Amino acid sequence: MLIIQELLFVIAFGIAVYLFYRKARQIRQNILLGRDVQLNDEPAARWRNVLLLAFGQKKMFRNPLVAVLHFFVYAGFIIINVEILEIILDGILGKHRLFSPLLGGLYPVLIGCFEILAALVLVGCAIFLIRRNIVKVKRLYQHELDGWPRSDANYILITEIVLMLLFLTMNTADQALQQHGHEHYMATGAFWVTGPFVSLFSGLSDGTLIAIERTCWWLHILGILAFLNYLPYSKHLHIILAFPNAYYADLRPKGKMENMPAVQKEVQLMLQPELAADTPAGDIPKFGAKDVPDLTWKNLLDAYSCTECGRCTAACPANITGKKLSPRKIMMDTRDRAEAIGAQIAKTGSFTEDGKTLLRDYITEEELRACTSCNACVQECPVSINPLHIILQLRRHLVMEESSAPQEWNMMFSNIENNMAPWKMSPDDRDKWAVEMNG
Ligand code: SF4
Ligand code: SF4
Repeated sequence: MLIIQELLFVIAFGIAVYLFYRKARQIRQNILLGRDVQLNDEPAARWRNVLLLAFGQKKMFRNPLVAVLHFFVYAGFIIINVEILEIILDGILGKHRLFSPLLGGLYPVLIGCFEILAALVLVGCAIFLIRRNIVKVKRLYQHELDGWPRSDANYILITEIVLMLLFLTMNTADQALQQHGHEHYMATGAFWVTGPFVSLFSGLSDGTLIAIERTCWWLHILGILAFLNYLPYSKHLHIILAFPNAYYADLRPKGKMENMPAVQKEVQLMLQPELAADTPAGDIPKFGAKDVPDLTWKNLLDAYSCTECGRCTAACPANITGKKLSPRKIMMDTRDRAEAIGAQIAKTGSFTEDGKTLLRDYITEEELRACTSCNACVQECPVSINPLHIILQLRRHLVMEESSAPQEWNMMFSNIENNMAPWKMSPDDRDKWAVEMNG
């Protein structure tokens, strides 16, 4: 019987790890659809970001209550991995509580800590469910979350609650069996949270208790393996990608926009045509981005790291004043488009035009033009995402490749081109005006 259980466990574990690896590899390929960009400078500052923003969740602490609840769920996830390690080793080796004889008196302390975390995760997830579905916090209830994204958030919270309940029930039944002196369930000492509840199970027979303990054990570990494979399809992928995303975050001051060397070169050649002879004829440069492959891999890593929390949208002045723009939707659209292209490549081996582009089919001109480039979204994002960078590239494409801009903007552009100022006033008149002002 034990051998069959071991075999079943190894098969389930192997399938889960393989499927996760396959999807993770596809996501990596999708991220690498983006053009290359070097983000390896200043490693010390980058590791500092990983420690403060990803591990320390620094930006979350702007709202202390939500931050503490989120921290419980996050810490529970990280620390309970030690408990999962024991379950996996037990499953593979056909043992029961493998770490107990190794750790001695420390073991019930460790499990007690996990149980406290599990109880806090339960409370945290319950409050998050209430905030989303009963209180209906505005940023968690906007229309871009209609359908799958809203269900996704609820599924994750409910799954975490169920997993924690299974863990606590398993421990309670285990301790009842220990008290009955069952030989397979060695005495470990009482656990902190479930210890007081063992009396609830004391009237049950050994057979019933073993059935409860084994059912909870199996459902708990199968649930975790299923959760592992659900992650890549969910916004909860951020629990993994937040770390590399913090490392590769933009270290430049927020207001600094990316220079365009191709434009600089064009202007230089216009002003100094004699340089053209020394300039090798290269590819015609592309300005801005129209689709996912025109963005950088960091933009796509951003899209896959987005937690859909909506803090960016809640701070966006365009969104607050009723415009169509939502930086969260920009990230969700970018990820959806990367997934669509990635799926086509996985199916046919290469990407051929499918008649769609990120610009217009996913993100409209109206959304792009509403952006004030204020950087509030970048400032607010807890996982170092930069929606503005994507907006600017799409907008550059619109203006520089398609000359698509509102009439007022085009007038301003031609004024800058001809008069070196946004106003319809020649440079001479402007000088005269300045002299008059001073005189
Ligand atoms: S930079 Fe644009 S998208 Fe971001 S908050 Fe400001 S207006 Fe909104
Ligand atoms: S971009 Fe950042 S702030 Fe906006 S929804 Fe995604 S994770 Fe939240």
